[in-house]
Amino acid sequence: MAAQKKNQKKDDNAEGLYFIPLGGAEQFGVNLNVYIEGTLSEGRRLAVDCGIGFADERFPGIDLLLPDPAFLEAARDQLDGLVITHAHEDHIGAVALLWKRLRCPVYASPFTAAVLAKKLEEQGERDVPVHVVDHTDPVHIGAFSVQFIPVAHSVPDTRALIIETEHGRIVHSGDWNLDPHPVTGQPTDPAPFKAVGDRGVLAYIGDSTNAGVSGRSGSERAVAEGLEATFKACRGRIAVTSFSSNIGRVISIAKAAQACGRQVAVIGRSLHRMIGCARECGYMKDVPDFISEEEAVKRSPEEIVLIVTGSQGEARAALAKIARGEHPSVTLSKGDTVVFSARAIPGNERDINHVKNNLMAGGVHIISPGDTPHIIHVSGHPCREEILEMYQWTRPQIVVPVHGERVQLEAQAALARDCQIQDVLIPVNGSVIRLAPGTPGIVDHVETGLLAVETKRVIEASHAAIAERRKLQYSGAVHIALAVGEHGRIVGDPKLDMVGLIDTDSAGEEQIREALLNEIFELVEDMTLEEREDEHFMAETLRIGARRFCSHTLGFKPKTSVHILKV
Ligand SMILES: [Zn+2]
Repeated sequence: MAAQKKNQKKDDNAEGLYFIPLGGAEQFGVNLNVYIEGTLSEGRRLAVDCGIGFADERFPGIDLLLPDPAFLEAARDQLDGLVITHAHEDHIGAVALLWKRLRCPVYASPFTAAVLAKKLEEQGERDVPVHVVDHTDPVHIGAFSVQFIPVAHSVPDTRALIIETEHGRIVHSGDWNLDPHPVTGQPTDPAPFKAVGDRGVLAYIGDSTNAGVSGRSGSERAVAEGLEATFKACRGRIAVTSFSSNIGRVISIAKAAQACGRQVAVIGRSLHRMIGCARECGYMKDVPDFISEEEAVKRSPEEIVLIVTGSQGEARAALAKIARGEHPSVTLSKGDTVVFSARAIPGNERDINHVKNNLMAGGVHIISPGDTPHIIHVSGHPCREEILEMYQWTRPQIVVPVHGERVQLEAQAALARDCQIQDVLIPVNGSVIRLAPGTPGIVDHVETGLLAVETKRVIEASHAAIAERRKLQYSGAVHIALAVGEHGRIVGDPKLDMVGLIDTDSAGEEQIREALLNEIFELVEDMTLEEREDEHFMAETLRIGARRFCSHTLGFKPKTSVHILKV
């Protein structure tokens, strides 16, 4: 990348076509992409997707991450629109939270728009102009002409985009695969991609999720069959967990349940929302109505299949609550089965295992994709053979891998180079890629980061509060408060809290606290009269002393605060 940078001179006044991934080029999720037609500083802009990501243990207290829209917000009048490719959270989930900072029209397919409408309503956003695009004719969005091309994926109405600009034609893939028998919508039709290939494709900006996986992603129909075979072997209650937004999977589960004479109930708010949208848009016409949670718990175990949220081990989702025995109505016990019909997103394995351990401790049988001969999960993302086909159809001059961690982006880049694609450019978040004219390359970098969603506010993921929480999590805190009277003499007993360091109910550990108290008295005694009268000196000396004590005694350097009250 450094070499590419050297060859390209940054020039804000150079007319051209630029691509900038503001999120989604270093991690799964948090997708936010920008195309700029014209000059970098004054050109017209089109945003594609605006999704969330899961926060891991590096962000204590944070569940969700958002892309930082500051770059777009700074030139809002140049932003012609935001296009959403499909209704998965990593592509749509941040729109309702960030739209106020963008204030541009939003374009989406019917199902995607229906899901967005529900999310906007929940956030109380009433002013968002959402344009529903239900055709494949070009839609003119400012300086961009955008065609919405249906592709197979695990959520209905998913679209790839063909974006035409003065400087060239882009295929922006979004998420897709070549499932020959999807259960929602049609298989991906090669015709529009071959046609655009004939007209000439400047760049393919595409999904890298499974670029390291050989072969093909498989078919959702096989999952319906695999689940049916799995259910037939089960006796007690069956619970299946998958991504809430995987409507294809909900239909597969419902078909398998029907074939086994079981009725379906849905547990979890996000599932209800997605299923509601799918029914409204006519995607579940062949699927019988589901029974309510209340009804399901009254039925005998072998009569029902529960679809539950929480396939990634999310602590607050239905499955984790059931596993902990904390769900208000649903229980699972010996003889029941939980089917994990989803892959683990890298980083979530520990949380998922935690849920599985809890379930197993209760005697629940667990079936995951790796431990059954039946197909109970396929990916909605293209594997290597499918990506190859897409290259053959579209014949791009440039490939820019997105959607993935560095490992997945490198895997697609290697594949593109193997296919003799002329220019392969691996971005990081914030890379400014000049696609045309001239030699394409990374010409600049814009500041971009992540935002973190707390219960009551949205802050920067680099916010000092999160860094501090992380420190507290690892090394605890010591709070010392003392009243100092005449001649710097300590009045009464100092107040000392050791948070996250000792168990105050344990007599043995209470001795540690006593020892630190003694240390504080000794430190004060050792000070000269002049030093004792200097509040700041005293506080700092005690702070350093307390940290040194904890470091020697416990091996931790806790966050330490000292409050001195002159009396
Ligand atoms: Zn998706």
